[in-house]
Amino acid sequence: MCCYDLHSHSTASDGTLPPAALLEKARSAGVDVLALTDHDTLDGVAEARQASAALGLELIPGVEISVTWKAMTLHVLGLNVDPDNPPLLAALRELRATREQRAQHIGYKLAKAGIPGALEGARRQSRGKILSRTHFAHFLVETGRAASLQDVFKKFLVKGRPGYVRGEWAAMEQALNWIRGAGGLPVIAHPARYRLTRSKLNTLVGEFREAGGVGLEVVSGSHNRDETLHMAAVSRAHKLFASCGSDYHGPEKPWVELGRLREFPEGCTPIWNADGWPVAAVA
Ligand code: AMP
Ligand code: MN
Ligand code: MN
Ligand code: MN
Repeated sequence: MCCYDLHSHSTASDGTLPPAALLEKARSAGVDVLALTDHDTLDGVAEARQASAALGLELIPGVEISVTWKAMTLHVLGLNVDPDNPPLLAALRELRATREQRAQHIGYKLAKAGIPGALEGARRQSRGKILSRTHFAHFLVETGRAASLQDVFKKFLVKGRPGYVRGEWAAMEQALNWIRGAGGLPVIAHPARYRLTRSKLNTLVGEFREAGGVGLEVVSGSHNRDETLHMAAVSRAHKLFASCGSDYHGPEKPWVELGRLREFPEGCTPIWNADGWPVAAVA
């Protein structure tokens, strides 16, 4: 069977490798089919496409959309979207504007907490691309405010901490309409990360399916074995296709590797069997 990794990031969002370097790394890690799924942007897809042809690796153009659902932030992947679809591109542009406003607010709050220059620092990290909390995190680590990326999130960037600002992202239905309108398959990213109660998870997955969602990321770089088994059961119960992705962001998180993923648990139907998956996919 060929090796699929359907969730990854480049410098177009908060990854640290440019798209071409990411694809090279994926190829040498044995990945046959890679989805590039940057946060709220498709800007990396053109470079990734070029690299994929040269490497003989199949690229799935994708995006990871930030969604606000019941006052929480969720991530919905759009796999195999048309990267030139005007309504999707317009929607992503709006989300990036929201990111810009949130970043200004984060910079202001950090300054008030005695850390000046964070917005400029994050901007330098992002090199003019989308502004993510990850860019603030890199800045805060480099200026010695915390020892690691993990640490910096805990100390500064999550709820209850001085640099936390709640984002107001897309509604789930909107995100699904944009993805479907661009010919893509909507997938809930890393579902175990949201720490939902069983009943809230059921409500989420039910609403997602009702609104046209088709997949659940059962296997994820951020799921342990039990979480993977749990999400496999959820995907079966709700008749959703199962997806798998490392959520690779770059070599600075060495515990997440491209293509190094668990097998699907028994009874999962892989997303590459769904209608709308590109026919060229390797069997
Ligand atoms: P944003 O979409 O700008 O709010 O940033 C979210 C991103 O921050 C995620 O996609 C992760 O890449 C990163 N992130 C969130 N929590 C952590 C954490 N605890 N440690 C490292 N990175 C994190
Ligand atoms: Mn990220
Ligand atoms: Mn995510
Ligand atoms: Mn991701």
